[in-house]
Amino acid sequence: MSGIRNIVILTGAGISAESGILTFRSKGQVTYWDYTDSDGARQSHRVEDVCTPEAFARDPGLVQAFYDARRAALSGVAPNAAHDALARLDAEWRGDLLIVTQNVDDLHERAGARRLLHMHGELKSAWCRACDRRMPWAADLGDGPVCPECRRAGGLRPDIVWFGEMPYGMDVIDRAVSRADLFVSIGTSGAVYPAAGFVQTAKYHGAATLELNLEPSAGSWLFEETRLGAASALVPAWVNEVLGG
Ligand code: NAD
Repeated sequence: MSGIRNIVILTGAGISAESGILTFRSKGQVTYWDYTDSDGARQSHRVEDVCTPEAFARDPGLVQAFYDARRAALSGVAPNAAHDALARLDAEWRGDLLIVTQNVDDLHERAGARRLLHMHGELKSAWCRACDRRMPWAADLGDGPVCPECRRAGGLRPDIVWFGEMPYGMDVIDRAVSRADLFVSIGTSGAVYPAAGFVQTAKYHGAATLELNLEPSAGSWLFEETRLGAASALVPAWVNEVLGG
């Protein structure tokens, strides 16, 4: 890894798959977010029914219940070897490092990662549209509790970036990707923009590019190197290479 000092890592749903959080599933033109409910039954929602501001305006009860269930399910899952390996890299890498995750789960931080940016928001955060404050949130949002900051009811929504909304931290991400010597994409389908375009920015600025994924992503051809396999095997092996051990 000579000449590499600044590393940017983009992670997607695939890194959490082996922890038991399902990835998106596409069937024809329709994309689903499946999950297993507390009774062990498989549930399925079309992405446009739960991951858009329009869906929330149409049926807030459905959307709040969906995210309440996703938030509650976090207590039943744990980081896997891939999250652990990235946390080790974060702790030991002396150069600049930024882990940009599209995931809304909290498995990177529970593994110990610190240099982390949740570009699509977090299940464990709520956003009050009445006072525009964001706050840590562990309980259900249900039918709209009172905001602890402004004391108004009905304004709280999941602090999740839905399709059609602006991802968080784009200025920080742009700066890091433009300065990166190495850009690594892990467990993402390359179907969701702007994240899917980071590899092109990194390449434009001269970074080496590596993809680690179960199968070739939509943008595989953009990467100098692609390694196919499960994140729990590929990521620890790659981190060992980087740290030279
Ligand atoms: P995606 O579901 O579109 O694609 C997942 C990718 O991971 C696929 O390319 C798949 O081949 C790969 N994959 C599956 N299992 C893997 C494994 N064990 N090891 C390595 N790779 C594996 O996910 P995306 O690209 O992140 O985009 C989906 C959007 O949905 C994101 O914006 C994200 O916010 C959201 N999402 C989040 C979660 C989560 O927080 N855990 C889960 C599902 C979807």
